[in-house]
Amino acid sequence: MAYTELEQETIQFLSRLVQCVSLSGEEQLVASLVEEKCKSLDYDEVRRDDLGNVIATRRGALPGASILYDSHMDTVTVANPEQWSHAPWGGEITGGKIWGRGASDTKGSLAAMVMALGAIPRNELPGVVHVIGTVGEEIIEGASLARALATLKPDGVIIGEPTDCRLAIGQKGRARMDFIAYGRAAHTANPEEGENPIDKTALMLQRIRQTPQKQDPIFGAAVIEPLLISSLPNPSTSTIPFECRISYDRRLLLGETPQTLLAEYRSLFPDLTGWQINMHQASFQTYTGLELSVPDFHPAWLMDENSPFVQLGVQAIQSAGIAPQTYVVPYCTNGSASAGELGLPTIIFGPSTIRMAHAVDEHIEIEELLRSLHGFISLGKTMGKFLSP
Ligand SMILES: [Zn+2]
Repeated sequence: MAYTELEQETIQFLSRLVQCVSLSGEEQLVASLVEEKCKSLDYDEVRRDDLGNVIATRRGALPGASILYDSHMDTVTVANPEQWSHAPWGGEITGGKIWGRGASDTKGSLAAMVMALGAIPRNELPGVVHVIGTVGEEIIEGASLARALATLKPDGVIIGEPTDCRLAIGQKGRARMDFIAYGRAAHTANPEEGENPIDKTALMLQRIRQTPQKQDPIFGAAVIEPLLISSLPNPSTSTIPFECRISYDRRLLLGETPQTLLAEYRSLFPDLTGWQINMHQASFQTYTGLELSVPDFHPAWLMDENSPFVQLGVQAIQSAGIAPQTYVVPYCTNGSASAGELGLPTIIFGPSTIRMAHAVDEHIEIEELLRSLHGFISLGKTMGKFLSP
């Protein structure tokens, strides 16, 4: 199959992006590559903010709105390279696929949007586009994008995440909560002198398991799963702990807030004393040396299917020859900041499937990458026609 020059360059760019290891908080290599690529394309301005996000801005010759395209530059790590059949950081191009960590989540989206928005002829480009490669999404969704939104103030946002080139018009949210049980320390030789909080923790864990999960016809279940159990003192030798903590990951439905969430779980243990439930505070150290610390709460959101922004998106991908399917993604994205917190018109669009994200042998189909490239070109030519009310 013969590729155009733009397609060829997109494939090579993604392969190089994958070769730049960019764990959360260590995105400097990939940031330099994105910056260098944007400078070689027809962007008006390429810069980095204090968090290390790369922001490329391009002004079209046609009047229009300001639209921000976001993909995160960080990836999760590779815990088990021996299980991979291709080098996890190799960016190998073979069998119609590009292989490696981040190829789908979300360097494929990043490569396609950088190339697409830089390539649209200026006289076909309405408004202003900002393409941003964000840091730290895998640690705190939305936090680094929120910083950029505050200064760029776009009229609408497009998040690049693997949607199989469908248009996602909403997402589940995510929160992390800490359930803390208190006891009294004592020598384990005399347990009657103390009170072991691990027993209380076990009760809480069991009760949460037995409580039916809330269901929503669009969003599905309000899944809650324990992530981590720890106790203090740590390390402990022959000492009954005085504190035990379980961290839970809870997937959020539309309308849930920190207050509703805490109230829901605090009502589960009226018969127990000596415990509390808190929203976890997430912190993240950027490669530029800044410390971001925010409550680990990232709301769900849903756009009206008939809203002008969604309708323009549908029109755009349709004219790129992509079936205009809309749906709601079951995972959390930077859209929690743009749509969930700021109420900005937001859609999610990108190549490949979420099943590839964080997986062994992560890869992306080249055909799928190129489908999104043409999708982003069409979005770029179309979304700037959006006029905020
Ligand atoms: Zn991810």
